[in-house]
Amino acid sequence: IRNNARSRVEYPPQPEVEFGFPQTCYCGAKPVLATSNRYGLDPGRRYYTCANVGDGECHVWKWWDNAVMEEMRARDQHVLQLAEKVDNLTLLSDYETEQKVLRLEKIVSDLVWLSCKMIVEQELGNDQLIDN
Ligand SMILES: [Zn+2]
Repeated sequence: IRNNARSRVEYPPQPEVEFGFPQTCYCGAKPVLATSNRYGLDPGRRYYTCANVGDGECHVWKWWDNAVMEEMRARDQHVLQLAEKVDNLTLLSDYETEQKVLRLEKIVSDLVWLSCKMIVEQELGNDQLIDN
């Protein structure tokens, strides 16, 4: 086991692993969701890990709820920008502008709905249990 440290490969950090839902592990594999159940470490809390985690290399490890918060924050920014546009449009009021405002409000609510749907699908899609 000691010999493995000598032949250790350094994988370059991948920015997409650092923010939001990890898409690719440092080793190139698709991250999987696991549930914390050992070491007294927040039992039941879900986290991203990698199927190759046993090989001693560097692999993704991230709490799932932290990833959700990052994704939500990014979407909040987008929704805020849209909401500002809606406010600006509301200042001018004619029939055409009101229609634009209605469309923008629909886009905003669709966005919120989509982010919830995406998070649920992300969780279900990645739900492979790993005995860790
Ligand atoms: Zn990996």
